[in-house]
Amino acid sequence: MRDDNCIFCKIAGGDIPTNAIYEDNDYKVILDMSPATRGHALILPKEHYKNIYEMPEERVAGAFRLAGKMAQTMTDKLGADGFNIVQNNNEIAGQTVFHFHIHLIPRYEGDGQVVGWRPGESTPEELSKIKDLFG
Ligand code: 5GP
Ligand code: ZN
Repeated sequence: MRDDNCIFCKIAGGDIPTNAIYEDNDYKVILDMSPATRGHALILPKEHYKNIYEMPEERVAGAFRLAGKMAQTMTDKLGADGFNIVQNNNEIAGQTVFHFHIHLIPRYEGDGQVVGWRPGESTPEELSKIKDLFG
């Protein structure tokens, strides 16, 4: 499955040259062209899925398994001090390229980057109601 208008399909399929740091039958890991930090990379499945909701469970599992391995390898090779794994779905969550991808962001002491959210507030009642949604 492939979308001819999708930039990540073209990159994952090899039609557009890129700096890949890992590749297998199902995934390609490329360096982000606007890196948050040195070595910021993206895991791309070779098949086109818009987001995590559309991706089969096994592909999701494989992508996150690979994220775990890449975190280890990249931390070692780049000399990182920590690591963020980020995955955005839909515009409201910050997704700008609508082909599933996982951000691999090595972190370095003093890198000055911000990856996160503003902590909010809740109540025990509200937390309990949310928990109840899950049975
Ligand atoms: P999103 O905001 O969708 O989670 O992340 C999209 C990411 O893809 C951004 O970090 C952006 O810099 C990166 N990106 C967009 N287009 C290209 C491209 O053509 N090549 C590469 N290497 N990265 C890209
Ligand atoms: Zn695509």
